[in-house]
Amino acid sequence: EASVEVRDLCKVYPTGTEALRGINLTFPKGQFTSLLGPSGCGKTTLLKIIAGLVPATSGEVVVNGRTVTKPGPERAFVFQDFALMPWATVLRNAAFGLELRGVARSEREATAKHYIDQVGLAGFENRYPHELSGGMRQRVGLARALAVKADVLLLDEPFSAVDEQNRRKFQEDLLQLRQVENKTLIFVTHSIEEAVYLSDRIVLLSPRPGRVSDIIEPKISRERS
Ligand code: ADP
Ligand code: ADP
Repeated sequence: EASVEVRDLCKVYPTGTEALRGINLTFPKGQFTSLLGPSGCGKTTLLKIIAGLVPATSGEVVVNGRTVTKPGPERAFVFQDFALMPWATVLRNAAFGLELRGVARSEREATAKHYIDQVGLAGFENRYPHELSGGMRQRVGLARALAVKADVLLLDEPFSAVDEQNRRKFQEDLLQLRQVENKTLIFVTHSIEEAVYLSDRIVLLSPRPGRVSDIIEPKISRERS
């Protein structure tokens, strides 16, 4: 069952830069896919078009059978720089996606709390982002994405701003998600090691303009219990 399908996707920015040329991909439900390729090959562009944050020049994105051109509740984007609100607590940040959707306070806080616990931040609800380490902030961003219960999580170089020790924790969070929540996850990386460790499939893009040059399924056994 396809969760996300990308058909004949092309992107030329208004500056004239051709970022993507004819991308066709299917992202099965419940799978982790990494987008790997040289800097500038269009990975972030592809992820943002799937998220509905950047318009495609031509082609289409189909999510759960419906063509999408804008952000929607079934997709959550986790920004590289976390994009947390510095003036708001961990709890409010994690609940913010639900606040935007008009969910009542008690309900959104209960949901946010659940995901704060899930990403290992129980007890930090009333802290502010500047009081947390980079890895912890990133996990707040993940909790916020999870709280809206999107089927599809889109992560732009999720580990780049995190030190080695916290990266491992965050990666374990993600692997656990795969098992517990059956999410479809698409993430951008330029680390082959990360791609092999975390994903069921690696989509390799060629240098700009990005095209799919290979799809690899790392055959590694992974402890997921
Ligand atoms: P990657 O994520 O693989 O590094 P990007 O998707 O960020 O690649 O960029 C692909 C190409 O499009 C690059 O040449 C980049 O400079 C260009 N690009 C990205 N965003 C914009 C933009 N907003 N306007 C113009 N060109 C852009
Ligand atoms: P980093 O190396 O990214 O700065 P830290 O070493 O600060 O990460 O974080 C490691 C652990 O230290 C966290 O998982 C958390 O348990 C604890 N920690 C980090 N920041 C705080 C804080 N502001 N208050 C309490 N504990 C913290």
